[in-house]
Amino acid sequence: MLQNILTGWKNYLSKSEVTEAIAKHRAAVCAACPNARQGKLLTFIKDRLKEVEGTYCNTCKCPLSAKVRSNDICPKNKW
Ligand code: SF4
Repeated sequence: MLQNILTGWKNYLSKSEVTEAIAKHRAAVCAACPNARQGKLLTFIKDRLKEVEGTYCNTCKCPLSAKVRSNDICPKNKW
């Protein structure tokens, strides 16, 4: 899982168009999910996907800016 999140951060930095298209869809799903929470430390990480900026998943505890751009899966099978 850590490897997947590291890949997600790499994709966050590279912002490839394909990754961003997938991430945008996932971010919309996460934004509507009750498991998405605002993280105190994550507020300093800016994201053009405003739906997930500064948030983490309360189920897997992953930062959503990286998770939506990773090879990981949603722990609730929502995407
Ligand atoms: S990864 Fe899944 S469970 Fe976590 S916030 Fe996003 S939609 Fe919800």
